[in-house]
Amino acid sequence: MTTEDAAPTPAHDSPTRSGIEIIEARSAEVGGFGVRRVLPRRTRRTVGAWCFVDHIGPGEVSDRHRLDVAPHPHIGLQTVTWLLEGALVHRDSLGSEQLIRPGELNVMTAGHGVAHSEETDGFRGALQGVQLWVAQPSATRDGAPSFEHHATLPELEVGTGTARVLVGDFSEGRSPARRDTEHVGVDLELRTGRYEVPLRPDFEHAIVVLEGRVRSDSSGVEPGQLGYLGIGRDQVVLECDSRCRLLLLGGVPLSESVLIWWNYVARTREEIRLAHRDWSTGSGRFGRIVSSLPRLDGPALPWPVPGS
Ligand code: MN
Repeated sequence: MTTEDAAPTPAHDSPTRSGIEIIEARSAEVGGFGVRRVLPRRTRRTVGAWCFVDHIGPGEVSDRHRLDVAPHPHIGLQTVTWLLEGALVHRDSLGSEQLIRPGELNVMTAGHGVAHSEETDGFRGALQGVQLWVAQPSATRDGAPSFEHHATLPELEVGTGTARVLVGDFSEGRSPARRDTEHVGVDLELRTGRYEVPLRPDFEHAIVVLEGRVRSDSSGVEPGQLGYLGIGRDQVVLECDSRCRLLLLGGVPLSESVLIWWNYVARTREEIRLAHRDWSTGSGRFGRIVSSLPRLDGPALPWPVPGS
């Protein structure tokens, strides 16, 4: 997944103890498939270390309409991929080739550099999911890349609903996925009713509604919206009039500004310039992928480069 959002990420806003800030997604296309990008947005760049959220689909994969994201580079981030419907094949420069299906989790850590593709291959049918990025902390963001696939994740009851812990700790559940910062990601599948969902007060949180409509603090949140809950809450009350599906995201607010351009998460333009130079010149930094798709070159840097 890619972004061309070059604005620096400001420090988090002051805490909000009640009320939800509704942030509208923007529509984008990734690999030929429609996505709703709820993060980053102008008014909200990050939630904890979560710095990018695409809601993929729902849509139909056919011979004429596929999702094929050709090989492209990443630095300084983790990609977290989770499907509600369908299947995708992940290939990366570590040699991974991994089919992902609903209920399974892919986490790729880019560190100093990795390249990957996401491809439909032979799958045809309904596709829906999310891809999220986590900004890596300074301790690991220049480190070695890695890839994990988790076939099963902790599943918990929340009232009459089900919580699946993708990343981090939630209630009695702990995800096995690699985590370099204090953050959490939970898939909540809820029925009609009222739910009290426990939160960590030292985290800021947001909800991303994928299906149905959720009410909280007298605000409604729908697919295509992020509901920012702020920091300092020990719970959030969610009400559903019918079955709904949402992501709960949270984490300790970032203490430093993150710079995102194309597929790179960094702190400075110089880091991004060097990464893009290394990708463009085909240096060994990003390795090689076995894919039938031609690699993505990416756009030109949006900043003047000294000496060029
Ligand atoms: Mn990617």
